[in-house]
Amino acid sequence: MKIVDLHCDTLDELLAQKLKGEHYNLYKRDGHLDIDRMLQSGYLLQCFAAFVNMQKVESPYERGMELARLFQQLCAEYCPYIAPVYHYQDIAKHAEQGLMSAMLTIEEGGVLEGSLTHLKEFYEMGVRLITLTWNHPNEIGYPGCLEKVSVPELPMGWKVTGEYPGLTKKGIEIVETMQEKGIIVDVSHLSDAGFWDVAAITKKPFVASHSNARSVCGHKRNLSDAQIRTIAERGGVIGLNFAADFLEDQPGEVCLGSFVRHIQHIIKVGGEDVIALGSDFDGITTNPAMPHAGVLPDLFETMVQKGIAPSVIDKMKGQNALRMMKEVIR
Ligand SMILES: [Zn+2]
Repeated sequence: MKIVDLHCDTLDELLAQKLKGEHYNLYKRDGHLDIDRMLQSGYLLQCFAAFVNMQKVESPYERGMELARLFQQLCAEYCPYIAPVYHYQDIAKHAEQGLMSAMLTIEEGGVLEGSLTHLKEFYEMGVRLITLTWNHPNEIGYPGCLEKVSVPELPMGWKVTGEYPGLTKKGIEIVETMQEKGIIVDVSHLSDAGFWDVAAITKKPFVASHSNARSVCGHKRNLSDAQIRTIAERGGVIGLNFAADFLEDQPGEVCLGSFVRHIQHIIKVGGEDVIALGSDFDGITTNPAMPHAGVLPDLFETMVQKGIAPSVIDKMKGQNALRMMKEVIR
C-alpha cells in the first residue's frame, strides 16, 4: 500500500519563502516534506493545507486564495511528478500515469469569511477538505485551544464563559454545504462542543486529519475516547499527528513508543478501520523519531517489529483514508 497523508503545512512554508523573495522549490528542500522524499517513500497522495493564521494577515480570504494559487502553480511546475485531485477517480488515474496525487485542503475555515460564495470559489480551486478552525474563533465555530494572543479580544463578538462553544448558525450552514458539495469536514483543532455539533449535523463520514488520542496524551488537540468511537462509527478516519507535543506525556520519552501506544489505543477504542496518517510535516517542531517524509518506510517497518500487523499498517498507510474519500469526494 502506498502512503496517503491527510495533513502537511509545506505550502505555508513555501509561500513564506516566496513572499520574502527567496528561492523556493518543492522538489528538494530543507523542510520535512518534498517530492524527492515522497518518491523515495512511495506516496500515493499528500494533502497540502492552505494554512492561514488569521491574526497575521489582513484578509484571511485573500491569503487563502494566494495559497490556493501557489498550490496550482506548484502542480503545474512539478507536473512530471504530482497532479491535483478534483474527483476521487483522479487518485487512481494519476497512479496509473505514474504520478502522485496532491489534494488542496484548508486549515482555518476563517478563510471563507462566512461566505458560501467563497466556499464555492475554493471548491473550484480544488479544495476537498476543510479544517473548520485553527486556534482562533472564526465565523464557523470555536477552537479547542486558543492562541494566547486571541484571548484578550475575541473577534466576531465571541464571548466565552465556562465551556468553549461549538458551531455557529453560519458554521452549521457551511458544514452542511461542504457535505453536499463533497468537501471533507475536518474537526482537528475544533472545540469539543464543535465536535459534537459536527457529529449531530453530518450524514457522511468526517475526519480528524491530524489529532491523536487524549487518553494516551492529555492534550486538548487530541480526541477523547467517545470522539474516537464516533468518528469510527461514522466511517471517518483519524490522521495520526507526528508532533511530540500530541504524542507523549513524559518529556524525553522515546516518541516512537508513544506513537505505537496511540495507534494501539485508537484501534482498541475505534477499530482498525479508523486509523490514518496526518503527519503535520512542516507544521511541527521536528520529531527525531520521524524527522521527514523519507523515513516513513523505516517507521512502518519498526511498527511491524513492535507488533502491529502488516495488514493494519496498510490500512493506516492509506486504505482507510481512501475508503473515506471515496464516500465523501465525488
Ligand atoms: Zn494543525
